[in-house]
Amino acid sequence: MPRHLAREALTLAASSGAPFHVQLAGGEPTLEPGLIEYVGRTIRVAQWPATIAIQTNATLVNKSLIDLCLRYDIQIGVSIDGPPDVQERLRGGAGAAFRGLALLEAASVPVRVTAVLSSINAGRLRDLAMALARFSNIRGVGLDPLVMSGRAAGAVDLAPSQEAATSGARDFFEAMRWVGRATGMQWRELEAVRKALSGGGASRHYCHACTGESLGVHPDGGVYPCGQTLGDSTMSAGTVERIEWDRLKGFFHGKELSGDCRTCRLGNRCPGDCPSRLHYNGEIDPAMCAIYRSIAASLAAGEGMKESPSHERGGSPGFAQ
Ligand code: SF4
Ligand code: SF4
Repeated sequence: MPRHLAREALTLAASSGAPFHVQLAGGEPTLEPGLIEYVGRTIRVAQWPATIAIQTNATLVNKSLIDLCLRYDIQIGVSIDGPPDVQERLRGGAGAAFRGLALLEAASVPVRVTAVLSSINAGRLRDLAMALARFSNIRGVGLDPLVMSGRAAGAVDLAPSQEAATSGARDFFEAMRWVGRATGMQWRELEAVRKALSGGGASRHYCHACTGESLGVHPDGGVYPCGQTLGDSTMSAGTVERIEWDRLKGFFHGKELSGDCRTCRLGNRCPGDCPSRLHYNGEIDPAMCAIYRSIAASLAAGEGMKESPSHERGGSPGFAQ
C-alpha cells in the first residue's frame, strides 16, 4: 500500500474525532515493517485516539519488530491453528511461528491468538490449548470457523461439520478449564456465552461492519465493508476518495446467526457471528452456532471454569473485530 493512501485512509478515520481502531492485516503484514512503522508514527505523532493492531503468523517476529510494536503501542494478534504439527500442515512455518511466540513471551509482550477452525483441526483443539498453555504472555484465544472465501472458496470439505464443531468445542472447554485456571488465558467464545447468559450484550452488533462503521482499504485504494471482503468486486463500496456510504452500510443488514433457537439455552441472547462469514458460508450450517451451543451445554452441566484470573496479567485487552 502506498504511504499516501495509508495516510489518506487514516486521515478519513480520524476526521470524526471519535476513537477508532486500525487493524493491519495481509497476507502477512510483517513483510512490510516500514509500512507498519509509517502507520504507527503517523497516528502517534498526530495524537489521534486510535488503537493499532497487527494480525501475524509470527514467523517473522524479531527484536526489531517487537521494538517497533512497543514504540507505537501496537497490539499483536497471532494466527495459530493447532499444535506444531497441525500448524505446519495448515500454514507451514510452525517452528518459526512458535519461536516467534517465544520471543514475544521473552519480551513480555501480550498476545491474543486466533485459530481458524476447520475440519482438519477440529479434533485437535485440546492439543491447541495445551500448546498455548506454555506461553505466559497469551491473554486470550478465539476460534474463528473457516470462511469460505479466497483460497477456501468452494472447499466445503474443509468446513467443520456441526458434530466436529460441537465435540471440538467440548474438548476445548475441558482443556481450557485447566489452562484458564493456571494461566488466566481467556477463551473469547466462552466469555461471549457467559456474558450473554448473564444478560449482557444481547442487543450489541457483533462488529462495527454490521452497521457500516468499518472500512477495509485495499492497497489499490478500493474500499470494502471490512478486511475479510477485500478485493471481492461484489462487495466494493467505492474508493477512499469516493465512498458509497449507503452501500457500505447495507451490506450486512439483517445478516444474523440463526439455528434452532427455540431449543437453545441462549435463546434470544445469542452472541451472534461474523456477518461476513455468514455471507460467504451461505447454506453451510454455521459452526459458530454449534460452538456456542456446546459451550452453553458444558456450562449447564456444571463444568464451568472459575472466573479467569485476568487481573494477574493486567486484564484482557479484548479482541479486535
Ligand atoms: S447459538 Fe444458534 S441456536 Fe443458539 S441462539 Fe444462537 S443462533 Fe440460535
Ligand atoms: S467480524 Fe467479520 S464482518 Fe466483522 S470486521 Fe471481522 S471479519 Fe469483518
